[in-house]
This record gives sequence, structure tokens and C-alpha cells, in this order.
Amino acid sequence: MSSQTVFGNFIAGSFEQASDVLANINPSDLSDVVGEYGHSSAEEAGAAIDAAKASAPAWAASTPQARFDVLDAIGTEILARKEEIGRLLSREEGKTLPEGIGETNRAGQIFKYFAGEALRPGGEKIPSIRPNVDVEIIRQPIGVVGIITPWNFPIAIPAWKIAPALCYGNAVVFKPAELSPACGWILADIISRSGLPGGVFNLISGAGRDVGNAIVIHPDVAGVSFTGSQAVGHEVATQCVARHAKVQLEMGGKNPLVVLDDADLDKAVAVAVNGAYFSTGQRCTASSRLIVTDGIHDRFVAAVIENIKSLKVGNALDPDTQIGPVVSDDQLQKNLEYIEIGSSEGATLAHGGERLTLDTDGYYQAPALFTDTRPDMRINTEEIFGPIASVIRVSDYEEALAVANDTEFGLSSGICTTSLKYARDFQSRAEAGMVMVNLPTAGVDYHVPFGGRKGSSYGSREQGTYAAEFYTTVKTSYISS
Ligand code: NAD
Repeated sequence: MSSQTVFGNFIAGSFEQASDVLANINPSDLSDVVGEYGHSSAEEAGAAIDAAKASAPAWAASTPQARFDVLDAIGTEILARKEEIGRLLSREEGKTLPEGIGETNRAGQIFKYFAGEALRPGGEKIPSIRPNVDVEIIRQPIGVVGIITPWNFPIAIPAWKIAPALCYGNAVVFKPAELSPACGWILADIISRSGLPGGVFNLISGAGRDVGNAIVIHPDVAGVSFTGSQAVGHEVATQCVARHAKVQLEMGGKNPLVVLDDADLDKAVAVAVNGAYFSTGQRCTASSRLIVTDGIHDRFVAAVIENIKSLKVGNALDPDTQIGPVVSDDQLQKNLEYIEIGSSEGATLAHGGERLTLDTDGYYQAPALFTDTRPDMRINTEEIFGPIASVIRVSDYEEALAVANDTEFGLSSGICTTSLKYARDFQSRAEAGMVMVNLPTAGVDYHVPFGGRKGSSYGSREQGTYAAEFYTTVKTSYISS
């Protein structure tokens, strides 16, 4: 195990000290400092962008084999070290150890997937409408890509942006979130050994308003892939569009789970509890609105409360823990405020919501369930991003669907039913980028498109072959002999 405690940036193929550092604190145990990570300046971000720009043409001209080798090597090392990296992830972010290891595993698989994609470059050659002319359509890299990520998936989200960026021949400037920079640094360390030429990938840690903004406004950054809150996403998009840079946003959610009278009760409860509370509810795809029809409502609510009473909240590294801590004091205070807001709006706090005092000093909160809520309450319209869900009672499927769609967000939408008719109808009419039938709204595959509609997303989809849309630009050539 390394004894290094101060971690800087990775620029032009070298690790460098940052001009300033910030402590990365374990939310399960506030006495545990994970390390000190770069709190860099806009000027340092400029140096990372210059390095990316200088290296971009050679990487754009690299062979599919070279790209495969690099991405495969990164994936192999992540998978080989998934227990260790997963532990670091859980320590800095607070999700449970199995969740941390699972996320790391997924990051490794994503690099392996895009290693394969590097060997499958597309392109078309078709006859022109003119005689003796051929038309060739190819995809080319866009150049320097800025990657800005949130704290809640500190290795999977960077992986699903960095892997396709490199796969399609771009150079990268990556800024991890302030609250979970350790996984980003580990990724840079692994990439530094992968055979990737210096400068093609750069890590620059720091605050969004300094480093993040410097990336977003820089004229040499051809595109920005951002995941985070709606407010910041809006600002990022406005600045990118103003200078005609490409931009891709994945933002918040207020994801509905509809439970119909004919649902398998045990399955519906398991789906709801997993979707609402696992990863401490800190998932953009979390089920925060449980929309339940009259006939099953009372049995469903009673069973969910029974289930969440038995959930063990605790230190993320404790093997018995099912729900880890909230990520930070700010987020915990926000969650507690929403508990007040829900109660003052007239909702019934049926269970949980209080701060918990455990053996280690951390940001622990009991999973909360509100009942007797109305769709227009703030707890049902605003993203909270914590272990808090509310039940909305409806009379039938049509009302459930209308309530599910009545939101400015549109990321993931779920239904629990044994009716093929309702499942198919919901799949067609749910206003969301992803639909789940008898499955939690959170929890997706890595080889298919990910993203939402309305206020949740902007621009082209991430992941799978659809990722090429953002990380490439199309060139059409006409050739005559
Ligand atoms: P955030 O918007 O506060 O920060 C996201 C990133 O943007 C961070 O790296 C931050 O430093 C940076 N940033 C902040 N201000 C910036 C600026 N002015 N210019 C450029 N960059 C800036 O979000 P967060 O609190 O880290 O993450 C939680 C949010 O992320 C939630 O809203 C959640 O729903 C969303 N999220 C969405 C998805 C998805 O795929 N849809 C996945 C995970 C998280």
C-alpha cells in the first residue's frame, strides 16, 4: 500500500504538484483523511489543455490496434485491482463496499468494451448520384474533450466518458468532483502505465468555478461532456453554445416508480427499496416518487416500512452495512431541510429521516419515507439526492402515468405490474430516456445507451455505440478518378 498522502495533477505525461490542495474526508468517519488532492487554478487547467492540444493530432492518427492496446490495458488493471479501488471509492464517497467494488468492476468493463469498439471503426462507401464518383463517410475525433464529473460515481462516470473519448481518437482534459477526487487520481495513475502517449490524457483536480469553468470556456476545447446538477449543467451548456463547442449534459432526476394493483407485492417492495435507498439514494436514477394505485397502496406502504426498518445504516466499509453515509455535511443538511419541508407541506413522515449517531462520526441518516403526499409538493418536484422517497396515491393506471410524466425531469421511469398491456403501454408513453419494468429505476447495463429527456439531459446519448455521436464528427468525401 502506498504511503503517498498528497496527490496532484497529471499533465503532459507527468505527475505534478498542484498549486494548492484540499483534504478528501471519509464521510463514514470524519477523522479519516483519504488524502490531499489538487485544488488547482485556471492557469494549471490551461497547461493541461495546451498539453492535450499538442498531443491530439498524433493520437487522432493512431491505429485501431494502438487504441485497443491502451484501453485494454487500462481495463485489465482496473479489474485486477477492483477490491482495492472499490475500497478507496467507498472510503471517499460512502457507498457500501459491494457497491464500490461493483462500480469499479463496471469501470473496468467499460474500458474493455471500448477497447473492442476501437477495432470496429465504422464508415461507409456508397456510389454518388453522379457518374464515376464515390462517396465516403467517415467519423473523425473532435479534438480536445473536456470531461467534468460528479462525486456520486467517481470511477464509473469518468470511465464512461474517458474510454469512448480515447477510443475515437480524442485528447482528454478530465476534472473530477471535489468531493471524490481519489478515484480520478487512481485512474490517471493506471492510464500513465497503459502506453498512452503523454499529453493525450490529463487530470486536473479543483473547484468547478475555477478549473471546471476554465475548461468550459477555453477555445481549444472542442467539446465538453458534463454530468452533474441541472443548475451547473445549464451554465456549462450556455457557455459552450456561445462559442459553438459541442456539449453533452447528464443531469438530475425525479424518477417515478409506478406500482399497480396487479404487481407482485414482494417484488415491487424489493424494487422500490433498492431504487430509492441503495447507494444512500445518491443516484441520478434513484426512485424518489413511488406512485401507487389504491388497491395495493396500504399493503405496499406497510411492507416498504417493514423493509426499511431492517436496513442497516453504517460505515461504508463495514461488511454488514446496507446503506452508507450521506456524502457531505452540505448534502446532509439539504436532506434534513427537505424532511422539514415535506412535513410542513402536510406529508406524513411514515419512517426515518433523522440524523443517526453511530460508532464513527459520520454523515448518517435513517432512510425516510413520506406518505400522503401530493404530486405538486416540493419533495415531489425537486431533486433531493438523498435516502428519501415519497408515496403518491393514485386511483388507476392512467392517473399513475400522468403523475409519472408530470415532472421537468425525464431520466428513468419504472413500473411494477404483471400486466403485459400496462407494461407495454408504459414503455411507449413514459416520458423518459430509460424505462424499467419490474426492475429498479437505477441499475443499468454499460453496453447500451444511457441518458434522459426533458430537463435531465441535453445532447447525444452516452455509452454503447451511441457514444460515437458526441466524440466524433462526420466527414463526407467525394472522390473521382
Ligand atoms: P455539480 O453540478 O455540483 O458538480 C458536477 C461537476 O461540475 C463537479 O466536478 C463540479 O466541480 C463541476 N462544476 C461546478 N461548477 C462548475 C462550473 N461553473 N463550470 C464547470 N464545472 C463546474 O453536481 P454534483 O453535486 O457533483 O453531483 C450531483 C448531481 O449530479 C445530481 O444532480 C445528480 O442527479 C447528477 N448526476 C447525474 C447523472 C446522470 O447521468 N444523469 C449521474 C450522476 C449524477
